[in-house]
Amino acid sequence: MNKMSYSYDVKKSLCLQKRASCCRRAFWYGFLSSGNIFSLDFIRILTEHIETVEQFIKYINKYSDITLSLSDISVKGRSRSVYELVLDGKKAEDIIRFLSVDPVKAENRHIDFNLLEKQCCVKSFAAGVFVCAGFLSDPTKGYHLELVLNEKQFAEDISVLLRPFGVSPKITVRGTNYVVYIKNSGMISDFLNIIGTSSFCFDYMNAGIEKQIRNNVNRQMNCDNANLDKTVVAAAKQLDVIKKFQKNDFRDLPPELTEIAVLRLENPELSLAELAVLCTPPISKSGAAHRLKKIEEKAMILFGG
Ligand SMILES: [Zn+2]
Repeated sequence: MNKMSYSYDVKKSLCLQKRASCCRRAFWYGFLSSGNIFSLDFIRILTEHIETVEQFIKYINKYSDITLSLSDISVKGRSRSVYELVLDGKKAEDIIRFLSVDPVKAENRHIDFNLLEKQCCVKSFAAGVFVCAGFLSDPTKGYHLELVLNEKQFAEDISVLLRPFGVSPKITVRGTNYVVYIKNSGMISDFLNIIGTSSFCFDYMNAGIEKQIRNNVNRQMNCDNANLDKTVVAAAKQLDVIKKFQKNDFRDLPPELTEIAVLRLENPELSLAELAVLCTPPISKSGAAHRLKKIEEKAMILFGG
């Protein structure tokens, strides 16, 4: 088996979760209704995730008097990685009734909000939608979550459903599909938290934090550069003054001022603290600042600035 995608792992973890009976119904409602076709006489799901379809069949066989079998699944595509579940005629209608979905809402591709009054059920519904229609990028490569849906109304309803959780996705049209998407790592981790995949949620949170740290490091480096610039400007000013004394071989300066003047001339790139250490004996940074200031004052008196 080739290496599975990040999305695939998230979907797998969602399928393995135990759910209360209200949430089980909401989960499968989300899964079926976000598929290719969801109507009273025809339901069609295309997924790369065979385990989900198998679990759906188990769920229906266990909790309803409808009988589905693995022969309802067929394999599509040459790569044999897409599975199709088709339920037509009475089977489709029976399943919609079993899930208690309002048939009118099903036909209009509106989400039946009556089934999602409890928060636990909203979360499970969103998980079901993600398993059927979702894609999630590996956070080490980029931040992207999307739900590919083929009905505008359904896409809008999903956005409305997520808003109370602080998740406000955008919608774009791609071919014949409506794509509900999130690009913000914080919001993606919120979404993953809602659908109940905390470990993947942490991946995204960590990726977000790492990015923030990188940004902070860059900001810090920019700040250091700004400070460095200040040092260079200050040193350039000092050099101008010192060169005036140099013309007289520093005869106008006492020894301790001559020393720091010469050190500055020889080391224009050094900070004050570094310059202070080079003095004999070493002095403090403020001592060095004091001496350089004295040189400037003397220059003002002798040379008028
Ligand atoms: Zn529930």
